[in-house]
Amino acid sequence: MPHDHHDEAHAHALLPSEPALRVKALETILTRKGLIDPAAVDAIIDLYEHKIGPRIGAGLVARAWVDPGFKAQLVNNTDGILSDLGFGGRQGEHIVVVENTPDCHNLVVCTLCSCYPWPVLGVPPAWYKSDAYRSRAVREPRTVLVEFGVIIPPEQSIRVWDSTAEIRYLVLPMQPTESYGLDEAALAGWVHRNCMIGTGLPSAPRTAASGHD
Ligand code: FE
Repeated sequence: MPHDHHDEAHAHALLPSEPALRVKALETILTRKGLIDPAAVDAIIDLYEHKIGPRIGAGLVARAWVDPGFKAQLVNNTDGILSDLGFGGRQGEHIVVVENTPDCHNLVVCTLCSCYPWPVLGVPPAWYKSDAYRSRAVREPRTVLVEFGVIIPPEQSIRVWDSTAEIRYLVLPMQPTESYGLDEAALAGWVHRNCMIGTGLPSAPRTAASGHD
């Protein structure tokens, strides 16, 4: 069911600003009322964070880089291709893929809450839900990107996409020239979560010891 951003914005004003605090409070209330089982909640979070997580999106990006036909379908028939691959469902009913080009870098935010393409990226990171990111990504995207370590050259424009419950965005980053010639499986390692939100760029996989993101 689509949520109403207007009502949600009003509700947000009545709640603590820190999303983690809000979630913990909700979880406590629901657990005390016997409505949820904390172990089940942990299992769901683990599923989205580690098993589904951003690796699905990374696989799609890598495949798009090596297969122009797949890329065309991913960009032009996103819902169809995701449904065919079995990546639809909760929090991802309508996903739009926005492609970075030398002329335009795409950045995704949800200015009113934290809408995010769960089936392809997993659970949103804490900063994505922060008041600071939600307001500043629109007002000063170039500065925000610098803080993420992403320098966008002046000739490249930045397009900011505001997610809603109805439309969630996945950024298709440009393939780094250093990765040309690698196969799809190796390329997926170059696609980290942030580059599919627009707050990062693809980069060589880090060693297992240092992890991702
Ligand atoms: Fe939202």
